[in-house]
Amino acid sequence: MPLNIQRSSWMTEDLDDFRQLAKTFCQKELTPNQERWIAAKQVDRELWTKAGEVGLLALSIPEEYGGGGGTFAHEAVLYEEQARSGDGGWGVSVHNGIVAHYLLAYASEERKKEWLPKFASGEYVGAIGMTEPGTGSDLQGIKTRAVRQGDEYVINGAKTFITNGAHADLVVLAVKTDPDPEAGAKGLSLIAVPTDTPGFRRGRVLDKVGLRGQDTAELFFDDVRVPATNLLGDEEGQGFIQLMQQLPQERLIIAVTAVAGMEAAVEQTLAYTKERTAFGRPVFGFQNTKFKLAEAATEAAVARAFLDQCIERHLKGELDVQGAAMAKLWTTERVNKVVDDCVQLFGGYGYMMEYPIARAWADVRISRIFGGTSEIMKDIISRTL
Ligand SMILES: Cc1cc2nc3c(=O)[nH]c(=O)nc-3n(C[C@H](O)[C@H](O)[C@H](O)COP(=O)(O)OP(=O)(O)OC[C@H]3O[C@@H](n4cnc5c(N)ncnc54)[C@H](O)[C@@H]3O)c2cc1C
Repeated sequence: MPLNIQRSSWMTEDLDDFRQLAKTFCQKELTPNQERWIAAKQVDRELWTKAGEVGLLALSIPEEYGGGGGTFAHEAVLYEEQARSGDGGWGVSVHNGIVAHYLLAYASEERKKEWLPKFASGEYVGAIGMTEPGTGSDLQGIKTRAVRQGDEYVINGAKTFITNGAHADLVVLAVKTDPDPEAGAKGLSLIAVPTDTPGFRRGRVLDKVGLRGQDTAELFFDDVRVPATNLLGDEEGQGFIQLMQQLPQERLIIAVTAVAGMEAAVEQTLAYTKERTAFGRPVFGFQNTKFKLAEAATEAAVARAFLDQCIERHLKGELDVQGAAMAKLWTTERVNKVVDDCVQLFGGYGYMMEYPIARAWADVRISRIFGGTSEIMKDIISRTL
């Protein structure tokens, strides 16, 4: 039973065609592989090159760098279709929507021409390394150090919880270039590190509660030497500003996935409760079920309206830090409530991993934590009040 989802104001005919392509790819290449990827704790490496062949990578990177020449709307369509396909493995939003954009915005022209076409073909998989074992929310507390020696940076440190960590060919790494506590945010820089550089090592692929088919890993850097031209930006100390500029898009992506996840959960639960019977009638026939689903459908519709407004603002270059934080906070808190209510309506089957609603329940939990926790979103919003 389909939910009556309003067509997003930012959709166009071109995007309708693109949605069909993304949907077909996700249904064919993602949905059937979930159990295998969960067992392997990662997707197949070839998935990236297959996606590159059909034009799903570097979607919003200009064509002159090999990208699709699209906008954030193309990215949003892909992440919606991925969420609806029930996939919790493919780290494409980190690759497309985050890492490629750090390179586009801050890498030198020469590096962009070298790396971005590989991002578009799937030859390179991208990761972003901010979090460390000792610090996550408090980015200024990172310890990974980069020291300039002649024409190189020498990097030492460790990162954890890194999405695409097992497959990554290039990591945009947050490092301390000035360890003086007085330097504060100005001590941070971003450096692009190819993972075939000597001294780079991958640790464990971590065992997670949800997103179990995604390669979230530890990364280690022991005297890793990269050319000084891999620094993102013209000078050291720009890292914090660069993160502040890019994090709204990362948070908007998480909100896109959250809202599509809400809509998918309501649709699955409507279908299930109309089929399943108890006490001689469909489970949907109980007033409690109808009311819970009425609430959930309303939550999804309201979240969709605010998300669409934020996407429109972002497409015009007007989404600010406050709006992105609000979108992430609201949609991720609501998707957790909606999916939990839906699990309840599935009864015991809602707790079985073979049911997409059970996987969704485990997968959505992280959305309140990564990309900045709900508490950090409230802190950011409150500072703008
Ligand atoms: C599946 C997964 C994928 C991830 N992918 C990546 C990735 O690709 N790259 C990357 O760099 N990181 C990644 N992360 C890390 C993620 O962004 C961090 O886990 C997150 O930012 C929180 O940091 P932390 O785990 O160190 O928690 P902490 O910062 O230790 O927070 C612990 C608790 O304290 C609260 N807290 C902290 N500061 C404040 C404050 N000022 N006010 C109120 N409460 C506060 C937090 O909200 C939280 O509840 C990923 C994590 C997971 C689990």
